Amino acid sequence: MEQYDYIITGAGASGLMLAYRMAQDSFFNDKTILILDKNQNLTNNRTWCFWENGMGEWEHLLNKTWPKIYFGSEDYSQVIDANPYHYKMIRSAKFYQALWKIIDKKEHIKFLKASVNSIVEHDNQAEVITDKGTFIGTKIFNSIVLNRDYLYQKKYPILQQHFIGWFIKTDNEVFDDEMATFMDFEIPQNGNTAFMYVLPTSKTEALFEYTLFSEKLLTNDAYENAIIDYLNKKGIKNYTVEEIERGAIPMTSYKFHKQNTRHVLNIGTAGGWTKASTGYTFMNTTKKTRRLTEFLKTENDLQKFSKLTKFWFYDLLLLDVLAKYNEDGPKLFASLFRKTKIQTIFKFLDEESTFVEDLRIVTAVPPIRFVKALLKRMIYGV
Ligand SMILES: Cc1cc2nc3c(=O)[nH]c(=O)nc-3n(C[C@H](O)[C@H](O)[C@H](O)COP(=O)(O)OP(=O)(O)OC[C@H]3O[C@@H](n4cnc5c(N)ncnc54)[C@H](O)[C@@H]3O)c2cc1C
Repeated sequence: MEQYDYIITGAGASGLMLAYRMAQDSFFNDKTILILDKNQNLTNNRTWCFWENGMGEWEHLLNKTWPKIYFGSEDYSQVIDANPYHYKMIRSAKFYQALWKIIDKKEHIKFLKASVNSIVEHDNQAEVITDKGTFIGTKIFNSIVLNRDYLYQKKYPILQQHFIGWFIKTDNEVFDDEMATFMDFEIPQNGNTAFMYVLPTSKTEALFEYTLFSEKLLTNDAYENAIIDYLNKKGIKNYTVEEIERGAIPMTSYKFHKQNTRHVLNIGTAGGWTKASTGYTFMNTTKKTRRLTEFLKTENDLQKFSKLTKFWFYDLLLLDVLAKYNEDGPKLFASLFRKTKIQTIFKFLDEESTFVEDLRIVTAVPPIRFVKALLKRMIYGV
């Protein structure tokens, strides 16, 4: 059996970002590193967006940035100047290719195409069992959802951020490409939290994504008809659909980190790095992989890496409310956007807000449902 210091299972956003950081940090030069994935993905299978204050690490890979955000709903609609934040987009092909270019140069980092079946913890190491054999690692960083226990528990609600997006190209210049539509709730809700997300990359090109925060996925037709209706409503008629993107991102406060062991750390969505209340993962992964490479320089026990914070609890309450009263989403978000500055919302979602800022957010959402959710958690536990 081949033995490595580190094995990274899954070379998507989190696995690749971690390997890239290890490739760039001389601390890891004398470590043997194996990356396992069933495919070496180099395509545009993801469009990652995030907000950022000023310039950031991925500036050279950005496809587009927007200084303005639009929020729309029956109760409140506004174009918002996000300064000093920008909303930013990276398409995955460019990201994968740029990171692999750095990783491929390193002789101590090896990639193997293999399908991972399981990971087993032992006293001093762990083993990864694949269709190409078994590999031993002193530490394993796993981004594959191998353990599906979270789906079979009832303590933490599980919503999905699910969507289909059309990249369309129009004959005429119809888009304001300075503004990203963050959430437009002025569409039929059908008892859910549903919104349109629109990212114009030029005056003639935009991604239209029909998105829901809800429990059950829809048929493809349901998503696509919603996009067609929205395009009609906006008077956009002469267009071609250039590409289609679909996804379902789990939104849950399930304690994924409890599955970590001394030698196995779950990372990315598999490690609970997806923000439970929004589905955003990319920036969290940027920060956590940075922290992880520092952590590895001094710590041995991977169970010490993850800690619950107050933000985990806020997300839990929001999800409790959204899961129980899914139709309330538009009013809840409208109230939040009407009463709070976008900069404070971003800071809060980045888990960097002060207690006073947290209070501003908490008091901006309709209180009754949250008080009930809080009482329930106080009685039945977290
Ligand atoms: C379409 C889409 C759009 C998204 N947009 C955003 C966004 O705008 N902003 C944001 O913050 N987040 C977004 N997300 C959420 C999140 O950022 C992504 O899902 C991100 O890719 C998660 O990274 P990951 O490493 O956890 O998983 P992945 O990137 O999915 O990587 C997992 C890897 O494991 C491999 N794999 C899976 N099973 C096996 C197996 N058995 N054996 C071997 N290899 C295996 C896969 O091939 C894959 O390469 C989006 C998600 C999707 C699906």
